[in-house]
Amino acid sequence: MTFLNRYDDISKEFAPVSKPRQSSAPSLLLWNEDLAKKLAIPVSQNGASELLSGNRTPLGVSPVALAYSGHQFGHFNPTLGDGRAHLLGAFSDPQGQLVDIQLKGSGRTPFSRGGDGLCALGPAVREFVMSQAIAALGVPTTHCLAVVTTGDSVFREQAVAGAVVSRVANSHIRVGSFQYLALKDDKQGMQNLMEHAITSHFPDITETGDARVVAFLTAVCEKQIELVIHWLRVGFIHGVMNTDNTLVSGDTIDYGPCAMLEAFDFNQVYSSIDRQGRYAFGNQPNIANWNCARLAESLLTIMASEEEAALNMLTTAIGMFSDKFNQAYQAMWASKLGILEWDESDSELLSELLVLMNEHKLDYTNTFAALTNSLLATPSDLFRVPEAIEGWHKKWQLRIANSELTEVTKIMRCANPAVIPRNQLVEQVIEQFTENGNSQLLTQWLDVLNNPYNYEQPSVEFVEPLSSGINYHTFCGT
Ligand code: AMP
Ligand code: MG
Repeated sequence: MTFLNRYDDISKEFAPVSKPRQSSAPSLLLWNEDLAKKLAIPVSQNGASELLSGNRTPLGVSPVALAYSGHQFGHFNPTLGDGRAHLLGAFSDPQGQLVDIQLKGSGRTPFSRGGDGLCALGPAVREFVMSQAIAALGVPTTHCLAVVTTGDSVFREQAVAGAVVSRVANSHIRVGSFQYLALKDDKQGMQNLMEHAITSHFPDITETGDARVVAFLTAVCEKQIELVIHWLRVGFIHGVMNTDNTLVSGDTIDYGPCAMLEAFDFNQVYSSIDRQGRYAFGNQPNIANWNCARLAESLLTIMASEEEAALNMLTTAIGMFSDKFNQAYQAMWASKLGILEWDESDSELLSELLVLMNEHKLDYTNTFAALTNSLLATPSDLFRVPEAIEGWHKKWQLRIANSELTEVTKIMRCANPAVIPRNQLVEQVIEQFTENGNSQLLTQWLDVLNNPYNYEQPSVEFVEPLSSGINYHTFCGT
């Protein structure tokens, strides 16, 4: 058997069986061959349109929709769940790790509420491009194996082409999954889910009893810190960091209203629905911390100690988030600036740079790429140190002057991408697919996106930020 059901023994209503809808004319539009090979995914490109539209289901397994709750923009919603997604099943990758394949946009489920269960082509293409680029940048993420067009229309503001995304992930256990079981007061289900997550993601946890729960929470916090640090490093703004979009594995999930930071600003928000800036670029660490606190609240229900003692143990674990984050945050800036050993005055040097970048609306990626590029033996013409930071640049050169240049260059090249998935190019690719059913641009761009730290390779159209003055907005990916 190549596929197996993975979540059917968590709790009674946790993973109800749900049949994907039939598409009238499924056709494979996008296919990630490298991913298919790397994970030895038991789906071939030939049979992909039938299987990855949901028209045919793999033998021996029943597709399910998963239940979860979630805090959306801070407000608790008890009944979310996969309203437009079907988990086909899991398979074992070459390392023996279980991997889920889930279809998104594959029709209604018991959790659809008023929704149509469908996905439009545009958001499907966005998920394919963004998840691939983010993976290449070295950021932990769920992946997209394929996009299949359904041949059917989806009604948004008008009729648009429908598509099904096939998402590949190490698991689909969200903070919201724990919130759902806590709400039901399903202690056994919660215990099962925690054990499931430990087996899948944290096999080194050996503690027992309450210490096990605390160790699990601590491990999830560490994964979230790692994830957000990567997002900050590459300038990714997730846009909808609700607890139902937070995987305990620490992988990025849900490429809805996401975008890449261009002009540097910690307060940058692109999502049209994030009016308060809750999920602004620089607020992502606070939200990750907040989401972990929601996990802690849910886990409280399975602690055996008396409530006060239990609360203390969990609060202590959550309390460590800030210190651990700050340590990782400093290390991130050190690597972006090529500073091998951070000393106190470096915080000031960094602040000066960030203030200048903010004041002069300098592009986040290109500014750090320019610093990196200025150290290369044969620098590229594409990245020039902006005039506005020339004075600062001299100070920085002095700061790194006594360090081994090859080492400085090496860490900066790993930390600072030359290429990111530029917002306007993502939009152009989506437009080309919507209008012509294919994208010449994506064909050329994917190779570049897959080698984002290669300073020699990009040409100017792949590194240009959005023209200033254009207000870029993203929308929730329905
Ligand atoms: P998201 O914003 O994609 O994280 O979705 C939030 C919730 O809304 C999840 O429970 C989704 O399954 C559900 N949802 C989003 N779009 C649809 C849709 N078109 N039909 C049914 N449910 C949906
Ligand atoms: Mg979601």
